[in-house]
Amino acid sequence: TRIRPSSKRCAVIGGSGFLGRHLVERLVEKGYSVAVFDIAQRYDIPGVTFHQGDLCDKQALLKVLKDVSLVFHCASPSPACDDRTLFWKVNVEGTRSVIQACQEAGVQKLVLTSSASVVFEGADIKNGKEDLPYAKRPIDYYTETKIHQEKIVLEACNKEKDFLTVAIRPHGIFGPRDPQLVPILVDTARKGKMKFIIGDGTNLVDFTYVENVVHGHILAAEHLKADSPLCGKAYHITNDEPIRF
Ligand code: NAD
Repeated sequence: TRIRPSSKRCAVIGGSGFLGRHLVERLVEKGYSVAVFDIAQRYDIPGVTFHQGDLCDKQALLKVLKDVSLVFHCASPSPACDDRTLFWKVNVEGTRSVIQACQEAGVQKLVLTSSASVVFEGADIKNGKEDLPYAKRPIDYYTETKIHQEKIVLEACNKEKDFLTVAIRPHGIFGPRDPQLVPILVDTARKGKMKFIIGDGTNLVDFTYVENVVHGHILAAEHLKADSPLCGKAYHITNDEPIRF
């Protein structure tokens, strides 16, 4: 019989990124032993092992996942890179290799960082729930690949095979070390390029504090069990109140 790795042994794919690093730090605080798998190493934390590799490389993943019971997948090319081939290769084909590597290595749980944009088609959504359909006309190619990615991960959930999956859908994430959202807003404003209001100024947009996003991921992981309603489901995640722009 196979000896199961401790449920506190986990891997964070994309653990060098903005969200990934916050997740790693919180997992370490909670007593998890963490392996980071990422194409780049950007920091060093005691107790965290770092593995440099591309998630499209199943063999490289397998080496890291073989004694891990829980995997967080929060790697993606930046939405700003606008490289269709890369989005497809990493978010869709790469995610297939993540699932295969997890299953071959005997990983029991996979938590995907998806995106709230998978249900957004340009029309306002207020208090949108998870039963909204996937966007038929996604707003960009990045989002199209996030839709495929989420479907693949949720469809792979299989209680008989002892492999459970769940997806968390944040919208914009902000917080310490945010490389994109707030710095770009501030920079644009400083350059005097924020002089226009689109609509009547009551538009809403949803941003979530990074620690809340992390909390959601860990809650999902810890409650993902064969008899729980989380299996194969996606969850929107937000702060209490949307931010008014
Ligand atoms: P980020 O760019 O800071 O981090 C992504 C990490 O993935 C980077 O460290 C990068 O090196 C790694 N990576 C990219 N390609 C890889 C590959 N082929 N193999 C291994 N590692 C690879 O991005 P983030 O803001 O931390 O986003 C994390 C996740 O959250 C992504 O899946 C993104 O789609 C999702 N998301 C982010 C936001 C946001 O506002 N930041 C909103 C919604 C969803």
